[in-house]
Amino acid sequence: APAETPQVVIDAHGLPYLDSRLPVRKRVADLLSRMSLAEKVGQMTQAERGAVGTGGDVTAYDLGSLLSGGGSTPTPNTAAAWAQMIDSFQLRAQATRYQIPLIYGVDAVHGHNNLAGATIMPHNIGIGATRDPQLAEKTGAVTAAEVRATGIPWDFAPCLCVSRDERWGRSYESFGEDPALVQSMETVIQGLQGRADGRDLKDDDKVLATAKHFVGDGGTAYGSSTTGTYTVDQGVTTVTRQQLEAIHLAPFRTAVDRGIGTVMPSYSSLDIVGDGQGPVKMHARTDMITGVLKGQMGFQGFVISDWNAMDQLPGDYATHVRTAVDAGVDMMMVPYGYKDFTASLTDQVEAGGVSERRIDDAVSRILTQKFELGLFEHPYADTGGASKIGSTAHRAVARQAAAESQVLLKNSGGVLPLKKSEKVYVAGSDADDLGNQTGGWTITWQGQSGTHTTGTTILQGMRNAGGDVTYSQDASAPTSGYDVGVVVVGETPYAEGVGDVGNGNDLTLTPADQAAVDKVCAAMKCAVLIVSGRPQLIGDRLGEIDALVASWLPGTEGDGVADVLYGRKGFTGRLPVTWPRSETQLPINVGDASYDPQYPYGWGLTTLTRAPKGGEATLKALGTAAGAAERAGADAAGRKLVGEARLLVQARIGQSITAAVAKPFADADHLLLTGRYAAAVQKLTQAYRAA
Ligand code: BGC
Repeated sequence: APAETPQVVIDAHGLPYLDSRLPVRKRVADLLSRMSLAEKVGQMTQAERGAVGTGGDVTAYDLGSLLSGGGSTPTPNTAAAWAQMIDSFQLRAQATRYQIPLIYGVDAVHGHNNLAGATIMPHNIGIGATRDPQLAEKTGAVTAAEVRATGIPWDFAPCLCVSRDERWGRSYESFGEDPALVQSMETVIQGLQGRADGRDLKDDDKVLATAKHFVGDGGTAYGSSTTGTYTVDQGVTTVTRQQLEAIHLAPFRTAVDRGIGTVMPSYSSLDIVGDGQGPVKMHARTDMITGVLKGQMGFQGFVISDWNAMDQLPGDYATHVRTAVDAGVDMMMVPYGYKDFTASLTDQVEAGGVSERRIDDAVSRILTQKFELGLFEHPYADTGGASKIGSTAHRAVARQAAAESQVLLKNSGGVLPLKKSEKVYVAGSDADDLGNQTGGWTITWQGQSGTHTTGTTILQGMRNAGGDVTYSQDASAPTSGYDVGVVVVGETPYAEGVGDVGNGNDLTLTPADQAAVDKVCAAMKCAVLIVSGRPQLIGDRLGEIDALVASWLPGTEGDGVADVLYGRKGFTGRLPVTWPRSETQLPINVGDASYDPQYPYGWGLTTLTRAPKGGEATLKALGTAAGAAERAGADAAGRKLVGEARLLVQARIGQSITAAVAKPFADADHLLLTGRYAAAVQKLTQAYRAA
């Protein structure tokens, strides 16, 4: 029984593949040479854990993997229950002829978000706003440690989508709209998998990561899909070859270079302009999966399909199976029909419709990762690190991330930071709601409003900071002598699809949120915090708001938001996506020919340092120094110089952000990320002149 101490069997049969001293390559070859077709096909199959009951079919079908996915059966919510459940399935895998361990996977996309009490980070869009690669790596390390401590060795993250249209319901899973920004945040892969920090997949605090969704998930056109339905995250990405390479493929190249273990194709279709094929579903794109990813990029890991994605391909069931496997998908997230899948694939291999070489390639790739993870030696959960789940040290990382992710868009009259001596009136739907501030993919797939896990809300954070705070969610009676109002409004949780459908998905605040802003801002000077997975259109209201903050989905540590509100830390976040003026501008992105946003990509005021004094002469000097730093490869110095120039220019621009200012300003941030510091200062100088 799984509750008993599991026995680790090493080299029980004296077979080479069980000998951990041999190189992985040799172990894989040995094991593969012994396996039957049924055993191989089983390795290529990933079932939903609820579909296999107590797991008898893990043994009967030699299943290679189980998952708890977004759309899964409700998951256990204690660390011990997770570990016990996974061990019970692992025990079934250990009862197969070659004791090939099962690999269990979950979506831990911002911390171990399936587990109550875990440390929840800001969603990726907030991480992108921090512009802090070291911090991104730390968040990955915390996530990995908490996930592995519950017996789970595999995480379907990070999402490397470059989100190009805010109407996409997965915008918050993206680090931003600029591929260079996404690439710079891929340090998270080392945090998850190890290697740069001297740890690796075998360690009890690392997990196998998944780069998803390959490729172009963030580029789907609003409202269009092959079926004409409103499924923006599964629609069509239409791009030229050059755009495909520069925008959507670039982050995957970086991930392969960083040794990513698995890649998940996208539900979406890819339509390459001029190739004559029209839109083709990614799970059928041999040219991309086998050609570009495995061939050209040299990806050595394995490709895991998305949930049921095979079934969206044209043709009958056998065609789905053959098309996806031939395209290069190594493991199929079936997730319920594992009997149909294994039967169909086995038949087709026996009949010669799918080659055995393809099967051997897929299985070798899967086994390689299982050996790399040390699962053959340690198949069962090592819960030694479980005491660190939700620990102070881990929460400190999430708190830092929450603080650094806050983007100060406007700060008239220096409303922020707040002073402890000020009487503050706090209102709004998101001021005291842990569920709203953690968003989708938290405890449940879609997330939910209210208290569903452990953490501090923004309001609690403000109180913890020692603020003199009065709270009224609906902003009733905001009168009687307050110094400043803080209104926290935004979206309610959602995952995938178009998002926040209840709110009409038009990126505007709900009427109740609008009323709260109006009431408070009419009665006193006010700061508005927007808690959301993407920009919200504030339009005419901007005039009545003194300070505006994009808070994104900051996670469980509301204390981090309070840190910047009360000036314990300066605001340093910068827009990871363009903040539009109106819905008619969408999609709007850095590099667009006509670019006239409310706030440009890269915008973010700071309360930390003063903008340097001076005008064009100062910018010129900064540009010269930046050029020298660039030539000397002095990146830290280069970044600092561009940062100073940005502050100076932002101070001059104030709130008069015209197209002539916005375009060069946004371009500067892209240049900064790609190490072109002198050109970045030049662009900023252009923005300065246009202001
Ligand atoms: C999502 C993936 C996710 C998978 C498993 C799919 O619906 O698109 O991102 O990894 O479910 O939960």
